Amino acid sequence: MADKRDYYEVLGVSKTASEDEIKRGYRKVAKKYHPDMNPGDKNAEEKFKEAAEAYEVLSDPEKRAKYDQFGHAAFEQGGAGGPGGFGGFDFSGDMGDIFGDIFGDMFGGGRSRRGRQNQPRQGANLRAAVRITFDDSIRGVKKKLNIALKETCKTCGGNGCKPGTSPESCPKCNGTGQVVYTQQSMFGMVQNVQPCPDCNGTGQFIRNKCSDCSGTGYVKVRKEIEVNIPAGINNGQNVRITGKGEPGINGGPRGDLLVNVSVSRHPKFQRQDFDIFSTESITFSQAALGATIKIDTVDGPIDYTIKAGTQTDTRVRLKDKGVPSPTNKNLRGNHYVTLVVQVPERMTEAQKEALRQYQIAMGEVRDPNSSDSTEPTEKKGFFGGRKKK
Ligand SMILES: [Zn+2]
Ligand SMILES: [Zn+2]
Repeated sequence: MADKRDYYEVLGVSKTASEDEIKRGYRKVAKKYHPDMNPGDKNAEEKFKEAAEAYEVLSDPEKRAKYDQFGHAAFEQGGAGGPGGFGGFDFSGDMGDIFGDIFGDMFGGGRSRRGRQNQPRQGANLRAAVRITFDDSIRGVKKKLNIALKETCKTCGGNGCKPGTSPESCPKCNGTGQVVYTQQSMFGMVQNVQPCPDCNGTGQFIRNKCSDCSGTGYVKVRKEIEVNIPAGINNGQNVRITGKGEPGINGGPRGDLLVNVSVSRHPKFQRQDFDIFSTESITFSQAALGATIKIDTVDGPIDYTIKAGTQTDTRVRLKDKGVPSPTNKNLRGNHYVTLVVQVPERMTEAQKEALRQYQIAMGEVRDPNSSDSTEPTEKKGFFGGRKKK
């Protein structure tokens, strides 16, 4: 530290410079040598640190007076903790916070904490959950939810004070809502402005708290809220109810209530995107001869005519019988039905006899009443494997 440059010289200002001139001098130098503008340039980095150190001293009237009197010697016994005692380089810190007040938006969007703190902000979102049936998810449904909402306390009008008293200035931050921490960084000691922890940045101290809200200014009120769940909603989707979340901050709007919807399984229908899938059993004779059968859909049973000769596992499409789009009422998915031929497990003697006649007609077995002695063909019919039953 023997050949340290004069701090005024570093910032390019005169010894009689005003606070504003010092600030402007620092901005100019710091901008020129900012590590972001000079990546990998060691010389620029040194110059940048030097400027930060000079500004740290000259921007503080007490330190500046000491420096004017004793020069660099005023701070040398401070060792590693004083200005000039740079530890390791750490770029991971939030530069925006450290320099926000100095640079403003100079480096693009670096706003000061002060600005951010007092801006109106939307309150946080609340979450709730509701379970509905599959049928309700297709048709849409209204559900009532019982939600605890924060409302402004009527007793104190939201200021958190016992009626007849008013908030006082926070002693920790003198009502400014922020505290200044001096922090060791690669640029030496820098000042970091943070919201006051005692008053959460409000700058107010409440001596006599309102007994109804414990000084928070809010009370929780149970409210019945109706949720309009649109037709076509899928399992896991959210319905947003605007303005039913946490109260806003600094006059900002309330947050939203996000209602997560769980849809119960249906015993028959499966949903995939906007299509519905199901299976229907048909008999062998319906499959073979064709028939009009009832098929269950989400709109209720419909008549459907199956063609003669329909194979098992045939999939048919019922156009526009699927799930309606929650956003476009004119759009609907399809319903796909898999037709499964059902083999009867128990039959009457008359039914069995009819099937034996069928087998003879198909040439699967020899007619025992016929004198024809040719061997039965081995062609396996539909019931070929189950003859022994
Ligand atoms: Zn109150
Ligand atoms: Zn405070």
